[in-house]
Amino acid sequence: MTTPAIELLHQAIVQRVKDQPLPCYPCPHKSACCAYGTSLTPGEAKRLLRSHGEGAVYLTHWNEWRTRRRGGKCVFLVDNACSLHDSPDYPAVCRGFPVTDGSGKKPYGPYADICPEIATVVAKVERLREKGRRARPTA
Ligand code: SF4
Ligand code: SF4
Repeated sequence: MTTPAIELLHQAIVQRVKDQPLPCYPCPHKSACCAYGTSLTPGEAKRLLRSHGEGAVYLTHWNEWRTRRRGGKCVFLVDNACSLHDSPDYPAVCRGFPVTDGSGKKPYGPYADICPEIATVVAKVERLREKGRRARPTA
């Protein structure tokens, strides 16, 4: 996705979350956004390693720290809720999702539609972009 497209999508997601907060708890979508685990900073990974051991986080071969998955969900998901949510170890990526990335400053990016509530926003933006492309005069 190009930068303007991500910006457009980001604006639409911010507006959607402002107009209607996501029903994250309890999530009616079986916490779909936790299906992939999450990316961690080295500092976050170090703290989680210390408190939960190697069964909880790992370093990928492309050098990214991530939470592990079990049964198709992040290991920190317990009874459809994040067991880290109220702790200082709640990962920054999860804190910002689906609005910002781990820095808390940049748009989350193109995968916000892993949340079914946001998927409808992404589809709407895609339809508008397609309509705009078709309406553009050709040379
Ligand atoms: S972001 Fe979406 S999928 Fe994730 S917990 Fe909230 S409503 Fe559920
Ligand atoms: S750390 Fe929590 S919010 Fe983040 S993916 Fe895992 S269970 Fe979901």
